[in-house]
Amino acid sequence: MKRNAAYDLNALRREFPILDREVYGHPLVYLDSAASAQKPRVVIEAQREYEAHFHSNIHRGVHTLATQATEAYEGVRSKLTEHINAARREEIIFTSGTTDSINLVAGTWGRANLNSGDVVALTRLEHHSNIVPWQILAKEKGFDIVVIEIDEDGSLCEESLKAALSRSPKLLCVSHVSNTLGTVNDVTRITAQAHEVGAVVLVDGAQAVPHKKIDVRDIGCDFYAASGHKMYGPSGVGFLYGKAELLEEMPPWKGGGEMIQTVSFEEETTFNVPPYKFEAGTPHLSGVIGLGAALDWINSVGLDKIAEHEEALIKYASERLSEIEGMRLIGTSKDKASVVSFLVDGTHPSDIGTILDQLGVAVRTGHHCTEPIMNKLGIPGTVRASFAAYSTFEEVDALVAGVERAVKMLR
Ligand code: PLP
Repeated sequence: MKRNAAYDLNALRREFPILDREVYGHPLVYLDSAASAQKPRVVIEAQREYEAHFHSNIHRGVHTLATQATEAYEGVRSKLTEHINAARREEIIFTSGTTDSINLVAGTWGRANLNSGDVVALTRLEHHSNIVPWQILAKEKGFDIVVIEIDEDGSLCEESLKAALSRSPKLLCVSHVSNTLGTVNDVTRITAQAHEVGAVVLVDGAQAVPHKKIDVRDIGCDFYAASGHKMYGPSGVGFLYGKAELLEEMPPWKGGGEMIQTVSFEEETTFNVPPYKFEAGTPHLSGVIGLGAALDWINSVGLDKIAEHEEALIKYASERLSEIEGMRLIGTSKDKASVVSFLVDGTHPSDIGTILDQLGVAVRTGHHCTEPIMNKLGIPGTVRASFAAYSTFEEVDALVAGVERAVKMLR
């Protein structure tokens, strides 16, 4: 059933300049927000304003521009602290995105704490960026990786979770929302269960932050990672939340400027305090400023309202797509966010994606950087439509009409 968004959807769409463009003579129907969301004008403008009027390197300067840039950059750290309800601003590290954040945890906490005989638990739902860093480190350190399996509907298998926890993992990694199946994991409960057996918990929040209110203290996790470009912000910027007591103990990762206290050839080099210990070199300054603008924008619309609208879109899209003969929805767990993945009998996902593109409909096809899910389900990939605050029911209709047309052409 179509339900009006709890905000003025047309007015909101006008804030996104890109949504005006055409592809192959058709109005753009952008259903690939899980890969990268589009940016409202305020984000684009905030970056431009920074570059045009107060760009300067941060922290090190005494001049006016350096002070203004530093204040703006550090202001976003405070904003993000509040946005995800971290206890202290020192718990927020700016990174280049989720991938970078997870590699940071692997390269510091992981390298310092994981050894031969240890166990790391990963779910089958993880994006490659929450699998491969652990596989690389496992090869170096000799620890075991245990996989928490999924059920047919794409939800985590409770028995498998129990079995993994019975091996007392030192670390459990879980995505908050699956980018391929849309499954929302109960990360608060899973964190509590993992803590009972002494595991540190890393939550990949890349697909959750654009769609849900995140409260890291309520979740209780030790680390939480996300990317700016999936939350209406710039690419090349993201963050890692880490509990202060863990960050303080962790050795540095990348070496360079800003992450040191003193550097000497004669005495031992000493390191800065978190978060600066983990922010070597000049960061993506305009990216962080843009991320701050994206947070303001999200809050001005309201995550609750965005979630409600997206939930209605998922429901409508699932119902409409199911009317197509041979349709197979992939990922049907009860609690879902943001994405609808599917296959149609007798067709290949990439052929459907190519035909949809010619109709102006942008979807993603393939394994979505989650090959282990494809292996488990025995499928080559899926067509994935993903939604954001600006998505409309009419766009779902365009998707359905496009898939119907593609299926006719391909069968
Ligand atoms: N984790 C999940 C669940 C994702 O969907 C993605 C990107 O699609 C990533 C991690 C990697 O994010 P990034 O490429 O921004 O580092």
